[in-house]
Amino acid sequence: MPTATGGANSLLTIDLEALAENYRRLRGRLEGARCGAAVKADGYGLGIAEVAPKLWAAGCRDFYAATLEEGAVLRALLPEAAIYIFNGLLPGDETGFVEHGLVPVLNDPGQIERWAVHCRAHGPLPAAVHCDTGMARLGLTPEDTEALLAEPGSLAAFSHLQVMSHLACADTPGAEMNAAQRQAFARIAAALPDATASLANSSGIFLGAGFHFDLARPGIALYGGNPTPEAANPMRQVVRLQGRILQVRQIDAPQTVGYGATFRAQQPMRLATVAAGYADGYFRSLSNRGHAWVGEERVAVVGRVSMDLITLDVTGLPEREVVPGGLVDLLSPEEGVNALAAEAGTIPYEILTALGRRYQRSYRGR
Ligand SMILES: *Cc1c(COP(=O)(O)O)cnc(C)c1O
Repeated sequence: MPTATGGANSLLTIDLEALAENYRRLRGRLEGARCGAAVKADGYGLGIAEVAPKLWAAGCRDFYAATLEEGAVLRALLPEAAIYIFNGLLPGDETGFVEHGLVPVLNDPGQIERWAVHCRAHGPLPAAVHCDTGMARLGLTPEDTEALLAEPGSLAAFSHLQVMSHLACADTPGAEMNAAQRQAFARIAAALPDATASLANSSGIFLGAGFHFDLARPGIALYGGNPTPEAANPMRQVVRLQGRILQVRQIDAPQTVGYGATFRAQQPMRLATVAAGYADGYFRSLSNRGHAWVGEERVAVVGRVSMDLITLDVTGLPEREVVPGGLVDLLSPEEGVNALAAEAGTIPYEILTALGRRYQRSYRGR
């Protein structure tokens, strides 16, 4: 196993080649449609400054962020990309969008009107319009959408239009809602034939060609999350998280481990204390549930996850394999974020975006 070369931090290694390969795999599934990328929340926690240029180099030209601030950061990295901002155009934000060359995703008739007024005064700019077909979160309501399709005049103010919607159940291929949303969106797209139509997130790409339209906008699958949770993961792992062993100790029954004494040894055990805790995004719900890997061996988290530390049961492993300063894999080399998310009772998105700032980060394949 790898051993320490100084520093007591755990290691987070992000494989940018795997990211680029995932982009190519997703694009390869799209016949005739373009492949964009969702890079909100700092590139799903992996570091926008590294993620965005790598995706651009892989051929991605359409990037989606959540906020104006994220868009400004992205613009500084990618002078020529199309950058869409999901959270929309709040009053007073027009100048920020113009300054950074960002495209607002217009979420209600007032936003459409405000951007159209701006364009009429200053010259046409691109826009995206989000029509809600089942999330009830952001976007035009079905009634607003009908009104817009009946009177699309304001859209003429824009130099180019993207129309989008978002699937609620894309990761459940059998869900009835997928077909209903696809149908509703196909109607909207057909009524706006000059617009670029975008529906599919990562999982949506795997629902079939009928969901691809003109432009897909995957996020999680780029970063190694499984877009087909009911089947094997078709994506490569991008993140490797190695926990630093700080101390190894022998305990005797009936000694307890950690806060709340929630774990009680039934026989003599050997424990490794590792530098990762809930402050690092190693979720407290992994207490007495999570697993780590020492080489091929799967070892259990025993006791509660604390702020900075976890304890692993390494009883029975060769002593030379578990030494202070050594490393254990906190994400399964094969299953990665998906397995840890399942153990934590959450989704890979939350695991990635919670990855802590204390890990020593390094990027491969820059
Ligand atoms: C985050 C997001 C995406 C990307 O979704 P993934 O499930 O990560 O592929 C696409 N569209 C919208 C509106 C989003 O908010």
